[in-house]
Amino acid sequence: MRLRIRDIEETPKELVYDEPTSELNPLLTHGPVRDFTFVAPANVHLDYYRSGQEIFLQGEVRTEVVGQCARCLEEFQFSHEPRFSFIMVPHQGRWAREDLSGGGGDLNWYEGEEIDTSPLLRERMLLALPTLPLCRDDCRGSVPNAGATSMPAPASAAQSAIRGSRC
Ligand SMILES: [Zn+2]
Repeated sequence: MRLRIRDIEETPKELVYDEPTSELNPLLTHGPVRDFTFVAPANVHLDYYRSGQEIFLQGEVRTEVVGQCARCLEEFQFSHEPRFSFIMVPHQGRWAREDLSGGGGDLNWYEGEEIDTSPLLRERMLLALPTLPLCRDDCRGSVPNAGATSMPAPASAAQSAIRGSRC
């Protein structure tokens, strides 16, 4: 989705639209993050407004992902609904001298007449994927024979990872 910068006003506006996710899947096959498949387009709820030259984009992306449970190794589908909040600053003046790379990704430059939200949201959807996907919180994993103990269950770590991914 491309937003024309001069059309963005100080009064917040809301946009609801679908963003395709199919081009994320090749990244997941060949990139550093594996074992996930986006199976639905992302429904984007975007609020946007400006304050001077700074453009604020925030909202939520909702999509469906198939992942592999880290404990039982079964595939399962889950709702992936990361929130996002970006501050876009012009790549000129004082902002051009800032190093934005250490800002956690929330501060980004824009150039030209438009802001393309798609790459920002794609990155957000990828980074927000759970590091320890579980088919359910109390999954004990598969126990193939009686002598084997179940895998360690760092439930609190898993939950905090999931919580962290939603902030
Ligand atoms: Zn499981």
